[in-house]
Amino acid sequence: MTASASPRIFVLANQKGGVGKTTTAINLGTALAAVGEEVLVIDLDPQGNASTGLGVDRHHRTISTYDVLLGESSLADAIIATAVPRLSIAPSTLDLLGVELEIANDKDRAYRLKRAFAELAADHDDERRYSYILIDCPPSLNLLTINALASSDAVVVPLQCEFFALEGLSQLLSTVEQVRQTLNHKLSIHGVVLTMYDPRNNLANQVVADVRRFMGEKVYQTMIPRNVRVSEAPSHGKPVLLYDLKCSGSQAYLKLASEVIQREKRLRAA
Ligand code: ADP
Ligand code: MG
Repeated sequence: MTASASPRIFVLANQKGGVGKTTTAINLGTALAAVGEEVLVIDLDPQGNASTGLGVDRHHRTISTYDVLLGESSLADAIIATAVPRLSIAPSTLDLLGVELEIANDKDRAYRLKRAFAELAADHDDERRYSYILIDCPPSLNLLTINALASSDAVVVPLQCEFFALEGLSQLLSTVEQVRQTLNHKLSIHGVVLTMYDPRNNLANQVVADVRRFMGEKVYQTMIPRNVRVSEAPSHGKPVLLYDLKCSGSQAYLKLASEVIQREKRLRAA
């Protein structure tokens, strides 16, 4: 377990929907917790799929990330435990849809989440010391995603191995660069994770080769295979690692977690 003072904050971002952001937030989070890390998932998508997928049903979401962004609750008060040891979540509700309008005219609108993290860090009563915080974003580059990018150390980009993947990636990279220059100078790309990979699909293999050529070392070696167990798990309110630990999807997320930790060690040593 990492007993470092401040958590590493990662944002799962890609303006495309259905590429595996939420699945990766849930299952990378679970895999990191499984190997001893203390993990917090922040659900910043109004759809609340990360909350549902971690077994938090709607009537248990009394305090949500909406209340936190509006400054009406502390992040510490929004956090609830999940069935996974060492994995907690700040859940979301559909209220988040309105947040953009409600804070649109505030000068600090991009820094609401960053402020909540600073308060959490200053809260000495909070026994929990997270080593990783993973933020799940909606599929657009709206104010919610901007809050996530402004408060994070690094971006993890889930990328589906399909024809338009590279085009979407360039767009995302330029947004990240813009945020780095304006709102958050420390922001970097931690890595690109290829999702829903099917080795029998020639086009997918071509896309993998292109992405690796374009992004080099930034692409994690581990690819997440397309695996029906991964897509079944959320309807049981469970991460795939609890639903079927032996399946290829669970094993891939465990490998990804160890790769993320190794990459972190190298970055800290450098
Ligand atoms: P996003 O959060 O980017 O919109 P999701 O994580 O919700 O994407 O994934 C989109 C859909 O694809 C979901 O139905 C999810 O269950 C399914 N899915 C994600 N990863 C896999 C995988 N490795 N194998 C099979 N289905 C997957
Ligand atoms: Mg999602």
